[in-house]
Amino acid sequence: MAADTSHHLIYLDNNATTRPLPEVLEVMQRHFADSFANPGSRHAAGRAARKVLEASRESIAQILGASPEELIFTSGGTESINLAIRGLVGTNPGTIALPHGEHPATLEASRALQRRGWKLHFLDIDSEGRLVEDQLPHLPWEDLQLVSVMLAHNETGVIQDLGSLAALCQQHRVPLHVDAVQAAGKIPVDFHVLGVDAMSIGAHKFNGPRGIGGLLIKAERTLNPLIFGGHQEAERRPGTEPVALIAGMAAALEAFDADPTSRFQQLQQLRDRLQAGLRERCSPVIVNGSQQHRLPNTLNIAFPGLEGDPLLIALDLEGIACSLGSACASGSSEPAPVLVAMNCPNEVLDCSIRFSVGVGNTEAEMDDAIGRIAGVVNRMRDNCSL
Ligand code: PLP
Repeated sequence: MAADTSHHLIYLDNNATTRPLPEVLEVMQRHFADSFANPGSRHAAGRAARKVLEASRESIAQILGASPEELIFTSGGTESINLAIRGLVGTNPGTIALPHGEHPATLEASRALQRRGWKLHFLDIDSEGRLVEDQLPHLPWEDLQLVSVMLAHNETGVIQDLGSLAALCQQHRVPLHVDAVQAAGKIPVDFHVLGVDAMSIGAHKFNGPRGIGGLLIKAERTLNPLIFGGHQEAERRPGTEPVALIAGMAAALEAFDADPTSRFQQLQQLRDRLQAGLRERCSPVIVNGSQQHRLPNTLNIAFPGLEGDPLLIALDLEGIACSLGSACASGSSEPAPVLVAMNCPNEVLDCSIRFSVGVGNTEAEMDDAIGRIAGVVNRMRDNCSL
């Protein structure tokens, strides 16, 4: 008898977090056991752990187009972003520029400074979610202490072209921080080529472990630490380094780097199959954000006529794991700020769902997901029109 797979869970929430790859688990298990010593200890066991730590640092930095001294390990994306924002601004209040609809880590770190006297200057994005270029020469450059921009958006997957912003920041000597948490491990990212001063990443978004991330920071930039303690990470982020997690993060990024083109194509094919299937079976639908400049795995799609919360619940009951707005904002039924900033109409704000595919997904799962989603959407639409 054929197995009943109708309620096999289809995980389409990879922008919230990803499942660690088997080789990542294997590497971590090995290093939890073998490299348990404190990498700061001077005995042989400590030196062995440090060797693993520094080899991982070199590998991650090299893949991201940076030098090893430029990489500081942190606990994840949120900490890296807080360290960049609070560590790069001066001691006297000035202005911080950030686009509308940034991740809460950036927004709230900036708001915390705003409460202490800093001004926030919000950058406009267009209806495709891309930064409006015309505004850039007219930023309050004289008072700017920092610009922070997401490279690829967690909700829409929209990728920014940072060339002119980076050039202007360099010209005005204003540090530019890039939140590359969603970009790293999905598209090639090169710190030096981007021409930015700081860049945040987090391992659990690219099939690495949770609890570890990194901040890349140009050597010439002074960074004020958030916390104080030992000499680790050149005193910019003290605390004993979690060697096994760091080795797991390196293994995850190496798995991407082994064949970034194949990874990109695999994710894109899965996402495009899902998008085409939903267009065909659930019309009308509206795909949000630029389709040309978009992460290969992300589909943010509106189902006009429906409400987001009940749809999300119904999809969950059908075994589809996806997200309404971002996971960080779940619990609130406010429309995703980025969609508001993109001037999306109410029917989009009322019911946009984010599907984000991952390396573990298959074409058969996409077909299965299309059938389940279409069933739910069409049933709910029929009920609305009764
Ligand atoms: N920045 C972006 C773009 C993200 O998607 C996330 C995670 O949702 C973060 C920052 C924060 O990362 P973490 O929750 O791992 O600290």
